[in-house]
Amino acid sequence: MTQALLVINSGSSSVKFATYDVVRPGSALARIANGRIEGIGSHPRLQVWGQGNEPLEDRRISVSNDPLLGPQEAFAALFDWLGRHAAGRTLGAVGHRVVHGGEKFARPVRVTPDILAQLDGFTPLAPMHQAHNLSAIRAIASLYPDLPQVACFDTEFHATQPWVAQACALPRQITEAGVKRYGFHGLSYEYIASVLPDHLRAVANGRVVVAHLGNGASLCAMQGRRSVASSMGFTALDGLMMGSRCGSLDPGVVLYLMSGLGMSVPAVEKLLYEQSGLLGVSGISGDMRVVEASEAPEARQAIDLYVYRIAQHLGSLAASLGGLQALVFTAGIGENSASLRRRVCGDAAWLGVALDEAANQAGGSGARCISTAGSRVAVWVIPTNEELMIAQHTQAVLQGRGAHDWRSGGL
Ligand code: AMP
Repeated sequence: MTQALLVINSGSSSVKFATYDVVRPGSALARIANGRIEGIGSHPRLQVWGQGNEPLEDRRISVSNDPLLGPQEAFAALFDWLGRHAAGRTLGAVGHRVVHGGEKFARPVRVTPDILAQLDGFTPLAPMHQAHNLSAIRAIASLYPDLPQVACFDTEFHATQPWVAQACALPRQITEAGVKRYGFHGLSYEYIASVLPDHLRAVANGRVVVAHLGNGASLCAMQGRRSVASSMGFTALDGLMMGSRCGSLDPGVVLYLMSGLGMSVPAVEKLLYEQSGLLGVSGISGDMRVVEASEAPEARQAIDLYVYRIAQHLGSLAASLGGLQALVFTAGIGENSASLRRRVCGDAAWLGVALDEAANQAGGSGARCISTAGSRVAVWVIPTNEELMIAQHTQAVLQGRGAHDWRSGGL
């Protein structure tokens, strides 16, 4: 009987998922379906697409007369759908994206109640994500206590950074208490690093900056396909301006918000994570498509600031690398917004970036080079695939091979 894996990326009110066939141990994982549940906590809606992106399901989840359904009911509906479409497969495990692994969890792990309790401790460091990631694990454990669940961490890929890239210039005892720059979006960067040689050939192991520009956004500097620096730090607030997060901010602003304006810790947290970024500056939306479509001067300014911050951090990471040989765009904005890429590349001309505007506009869904033949820096758009990375790690942990290491060949 074929075994399948389920991958879960759980947010505050939505869950993205994908299922994979494990054809035989050691062979490549084939995606069976993917989907999402939106509206958790109110009126959840389940949508599923098949291998060729054909719609398989689109319905509201309803249980008795209760219209407000939480994660447990949402996952029960998902497992019910999976069971009815199993086609002879058994579910071997569930792999989860967990944003923060702290200093302790540098590799994917099979979750136990003790590990879950330790991961709870990182919730204040990722208030928009960690609690939701863990509540998905708890909801599934209460439905299927014997089903193995594996946590894969967004911080993990950055563990290779040198001390100077990770340190904060704070007293030793604070650093030793774990206050350091962890970096995030690691599963996305790990996937991009794994496919870089397919596209960039010899340059793949050179000085590369990957721009993960989605709702959350960060840059990662890689050398030898390992992380050497990131724009994100101790939490997923630092660095680039994001959909609703502020990015880099003078820490004195936080002190002033609290002591000068009398704001409480939860109010500051909400301001910085949920009301800032594109949303706060435009006053319109945190969704780039909406902001790009607006004629309002505040929307234009929001994009100006968004691009300016990318240009600044790109210069900073190029300095960490001592040069730049390739720039890769990925995630929702990076993969889809040609105008944003044009502006970022224009600001990076001093680094040797020369954009081929026709290639940039051409679109397409796969990996593509968008720089001119003479550009000193190769510029690529490469779609990310965090789910595949989680599935590979989950399979490896289950087979007792530790974490999947793509550098050694493997799956
Ligand atoms: P992600 O978090 O990777 O799903 O990315 C979400 C972000 O990508 C949102 O800000 C979307 O508005 C943005 N996005 C998706 N498609 C496009 C597009 N065609 N043009 C501009 N932004 C887009």
